[in-house]
Amino acid sequence: MERITSFSVDHRLLKKGLYVSRIDGDLITYDIRMTQPNVEPAMNPQAAHTIEHIGATLLRNGPYKDQVIYFGPMGCMTGFYLIVRDLDLEVVKNIVKDVYEKIASWDQEIPGAKMEECGNYTYMDLQGARQAAQYFISSPWEHQYHLLEEK
Ligand SMILES: [Zn+2]
Repeated sequence: MERITSFSVDHRLLKKGLYVSRIDGDLITYDIRMTQPNVEPAMNPQAAHTIEHIGATLLRNGPYKDQVIYFGPMGCMTGFYLIVRDLDLEVVKNIVKDVYEKIASWDQEIPGAKMEECGNYTYMDLQGARQAAQYFISSPWEHQYHLLEEK
């Protein structure tokens, strides 16, 4: 089998940041890399699940809701994928900043965290989610570039 594109990026070189990782027509996949892979601690899955619920709710209620296709955690727990239709890096940077700032100070009920709304509704960690979001936005994301151009 062929090695898929996202495995072809040397993860030893990745820092925390926001990356364009795929372009498929007008669909753009951004990697929101929240911790440095294999160096810094990854998120705990409950925190990631909580970020997914809050983040998806904010994105789907925000000004670009019609262009947000998907938001969900990477299996390695070092960040999130954000798939959008036709939004460039500068716009997405502001969207991500806004959403993560709101997650970092979230003090409301976790959206969608009821038994009828989620497949594992008690599997949440709001404090961990807030900390992980705060960590991500606490220092400049100096590493923003097009992964495909690095190759
Ligand atoms: Zn859920």
